[in-house]
Amino acid sequence: MIKGFRGTSLIDYPGKISSVIYTYLCNYRCPYCYNVDLVLPERANRLPDIPEEYILQEIMRRRGFIKGVVITGGEPTLWGRRLVNFIEKIYYEVGLPVKLDTNGSNPELIKVLFDMEILDFLALDFKTSPQKYEKIGGDFKKIEKTLEIASLKPERVEVRITFYPPLVSQRDLEEMLPYLKKFKFIAFQKYIPGKTLKEDNISPYSPDFYNWAKDLFKKHLPEAEIVERI
Ligand code: SF4
Repeated sequence: MIKGFRGTSLIDYPGKISSVIYTYLCNYRCPYCYNVDLVLPERANRLPDIPEEYILQEIMRRRGFIKGVVITGGEPTLWGRRLVNFIEKIYYEVGLPVKLDTNGSNPELIKVLFDMEILDFLALDFKTSPQKYEKIGGDFKKIEKTLEIASLKPERVEVRITFYPPLVSQRDLEEMLPYLKKFKFIAFQKYIPGKTLKEDNISPYSPDFYNWAKDLFKKHLPEAEIVERI
């Protein structure tokens, strides 16, 4: 399940020094993905597996220093019950809160984690407008369900939008807005061309586009805080 571990991070958990755990495999193929080694099975299989027990020992050892644990990927929810058990151990045995990064494709699992009250924070990707989800291998019905479940805990969720132009046009953003009405934290993330899954080197948006998007969101979602990572 786990192929990577970073002992200390200042940027992955809002307001907390954290350790970061990287699971492998993903059911999506976002052209701008830079976690290619974790996403593609043929690449991930070349990396050694890191046993969950070893990771638990490592975060236990850092417990006085770190204040939370981030689980990212790949797509962590692909690991189902094994992921739930692991988060349960971090919460009850190590005693640290967990933030989970997800593409939103597994609403059932997110519901289980919230119902068990073992998830402190969810970073949920909202990648494009409903009709474009199939371009990246996604099923929008699942995303809609995850957004619905997550919207019941708005103080524990950040919805993240990566501004990759072919997936996030003006029209896409306008079509995504109605699904965001109940959220408190929405992050604008910059798309960075480079060693990505598709390596298509599409030019990122200019600051003008971000300003337009920010105005649009402020107008339609006045309650939401827009976190800019651009
Ligand atoms: S969902 Fe995340 S990990 Fe999966 S392909 Fe897209 S960007 Fe990469």
